[in-house]
Amino acid sequence: MPVGTLATVKGISSRQLADTGAQMVLANTYHLNLQPGEAVVQSAGGLHEFMGWTGPILTDSGGFQVFSLADLNRVGDEGVSFRNPRDGTHIHLTPEKAIEIQMALGSDVAMAFDQCPPYSATENDVEEACNRTHHWLERCVAAHKKSEQALFGIVQGGCFSHLRAKSVKTVSSFDLPGIAIGGVSVGEPINEIPQIVREVAPLLPEGRPRYLMGIGTFREMTIAVANGIDLFDCVLPTRLGRHGTALVRDERWNLRNACFRQDHQPLDQTCSCEACSTYSRAYLHHLIRSGELLGLTLLSLHNLTNLIRFTSAMEQAIVEGCFSEDFAPWKSDSNAHHTW
Ligand SMILES: [Zn+2]
Repeated sequence: MPVGTLATVKGISSRQLADTGAQMVLANTYHLNLQPGEAVVQSAGGLHEFMGWTGPILTDSGGFQVFSLADLNRVGDEGVSFRNPRDGTHIHLTPEKAIEIQMALGSDVAMAFDQCPPYSATENDVEEACNRTHHWLERCVAAHKKSEQALFGIVQGGCFSHLRAKSVKTVSSFDLPGIAIGGVSVGEPINEIPQIVREVAPLLPEGRPRYLMGIGTFREMTIAVANGIDLFDCVLPTRLGRHGTALVRDERWNLRNACFRQDHQPLDQTCSCEACSTYSRAYLHHLIRSGELLGLTLLSLHNLTNLIRFTSAMEQAIVEGCFSEDFAPWKSDSNAHHTW
């Protein structure tokens, strides 16, 4: 899922987004509550109408965003209080409120409101966050009254195996249509993410979508898919694009680099996106160097296409029964390439 925090994948129109092959997009409850407010979105007929996107939309509950503003918030069992970073007004977000906002936004998948502790949190803090997340899930389930919208629960537990296992057991007991692994990509060393996935995934219920939150790099996605994960979201393709960096296969190229000044080849000959099929590396280099908006849009388009092509290749390999062979190098710590 490309990340469209404010009901827009930055720099990309919904039509362009569909051209990348993206099937589902993520938007953020917390940010949309602050601007423009869920009432505006609801009066437009919901998020799909508002942003002109007909495919599925998942809304993140805002827990991650609220807790990344750790200096600003006060956490209690009831909910979280913080100041609106836009205008300084006081906001109190509760599980009920997070669900109410998501029902008004009209996403296809709503996420439970959870407490996402940072990597630096102690075992006691993580345990407390887990317990709170589980109590909040119960309240989210009670508050959720929109049968056409799926509610996913979120497993927490940081890097502590016994807390993760307990969290999976509790969240699974709610019999929800999907489950997410949260509390990853919160500052831990990247090598710890596969470890968490390997431990948690086998414990998850079979036959329901599994969503690994905040992950979208090739190696981590491949390991996660090998362990049965279905959904990902990541800001990386568009964030890199806005900084002039292109994902070419599994490499990152800085298009500002002088070596591209007279390079008239397509960015990636194997890619069918607008940037690669219409323009050259030299032109993209020129746009980026000149600070032209089109350069950022084209690189974001290419990066999204590249990542989605990779996930489609994994899907195809699973269907054809050759995932383990084709993607095997990605499962180890080796940097070997495969044939996607
Ligand atoms: Zn491309």
